[in-house]
Amino acid sequence: MPRGSQMESKRRRGEAEEEEEEGYPWKKQTTTRTQRKKGDWSLKDFEIGKPLGKGKFGRVYLAREVQSKYIVALKVIFKKQIEKYGIGHQLRRELEIQSNLGHPNILRLFGWFHDEERIFLILEYAHRGELYKLLRRNNFLSETQSATYIASLANALAYCHQKHVIHRDIKPENLLLDHQGQLKIADFGWSVQSEKKRRTMCGTLDYLAPELVEQRTYDYAVDNWTLGILCYEFLYGVPPFEAESQADTFRRIKEIDLNFPPAPLVSAEAKDLITKLLVKESSQRLSLQKIMEHPWIVKNADPTGTCKN
Ligand code: ATP
Ligand code: MG
Repeated sequence: MPRGSQMESKRRRGEAEEEEEEGYPWKKQTTTRTQRKKGDWSLKDFEIGKPLGKGKFGRVYLAREVQSKYIVALKVIFKKQIEKYGIGHQLRRELEIQSNLGHPNILRLFGWFHDEERIFLILEYAHRGELYKLLRRNNFLSETQSATYIASLANALAYCHQKHVIHRDIKPENLLLDHQGQLKIADFGWSVQSEKKRRTMCGTLDYLAPELVEQRTYDYAVDNWTLGILCYEFLYGVPPFEAESQADTFRRIKEIDLNFPPAPLVSAEAKDLITKLLVKESSQRLSLQKIMEHPWIVKNADPTGTCKN
């Protein structure tokens, strides 16, 4: 990890007593709970590279911190958009939450800054991009790949639930892969905002738990449900309750209209795990701990969490 002099001085300006974390030059800045380092970063600190993608609120670019040469992804969000949806305060709060999450399977938010029109998020760069693209390219994933990703997700979610954070918006588009093929959950803490967006922008309902579809109270178990949906989608290439219309998807989720097609061939153990997660009564869903101990995971998941694609 290169550490330039500017980086060092930024560090010194930061809270020197905070714990060091090797490999994360922005750790100091992001862990601050004061306004002291506000404005520490600006666009001048970065060389902007190729665009990596386009989201609903802005664009993401490859970028390099000038002094340290550290490669990051810079997400640019237009303030106008944030104002339009009235989510400024919430965004701020959620960025605070995300920047305090440190887990190998959660995309790091190193820090953020803004100018007149835009907010810039300094994110860990996920070299291999969206898991979704891998899924589209291969149609479906192997049991080893699927189990590895589900185990990584269960691990990351257990960490989040411990910190009282529920994601609620886990879907393949929000799952990125780093250069080793390790899964990274992106857009953490964007959940409430994403839901608002979903209602206003007609996004997919495929990943919503029945209690969310029915607008009932919900808890951490919504994320466990989503693991069942993803496990199915990894193995079969399509989410289980996909339908022509939103109304039909709604109905299929509410009725747990779950079928396992004959092809591709999927093991009985994998189906067992899916069936134990896609349970209407949220308290009856398999716990994250039990997912990690499930025979299919134990047998198939790569313990290093990396996958050759
Ligand atoms: P939103 O985050 O607003 O819900 P989104 O997920 O569609 O929307 P972004 O998060 O802005 O969009 O990202 C757009 C695309 O840019 C992603 O789908 C991904 O391909 C790419 N991308 C985003 N962040 C990174 C990153 N850290 N590393 C590599 N690629 C990224
Ligand atoms: Mg995203």
